[in-house]
Amino acid sequence: MSEFEEKVIEMLKKIDQKLDKVLEMGSKAPAPQPTPAATSTASAASTVKPSALVEKQEEEEKMKEKPPVEGRRVCTKCGGTAFKTEEDKSNVLHQMGGIKIYAKRYICKSCGNES
Ligand SMILES: [Zn+2]
Repeated sequence: MSEFEEKVIEMLKKIDQKLDKVLEMGSKAPAPQPTPAATSTASAASTVKPSALVEKQEEEEKMKEKPPVEGRRVCTKCGGTAFKTEEDKSNVLHQMGGIKIYAKRYICKSCGNES
């Protein structure tokens, strides 16, 4: 390991310890005490915390985006990927000028399972 890498890891450990302290203070004392030490740790936390939250949100959004991708449908029963589609007349998605757009049902060609 290079000297630089060791320094970075040391820094990360220090940041981690600071975050632990801030989280501990936050859960124990609702009113933060305005000592110089406390304000410096608080500012360090405010720069680290929101970005971590944003990363988490972006990850969650990616997870949500994956399932509706067409053509990636997999049968929950047999794992088959060939489906025939049928309009589900009881499930109107959208109606405009007398034209109805129905939800689609996907029926597995291998086992007939509807998913
Ligand atoms: Zn199937």
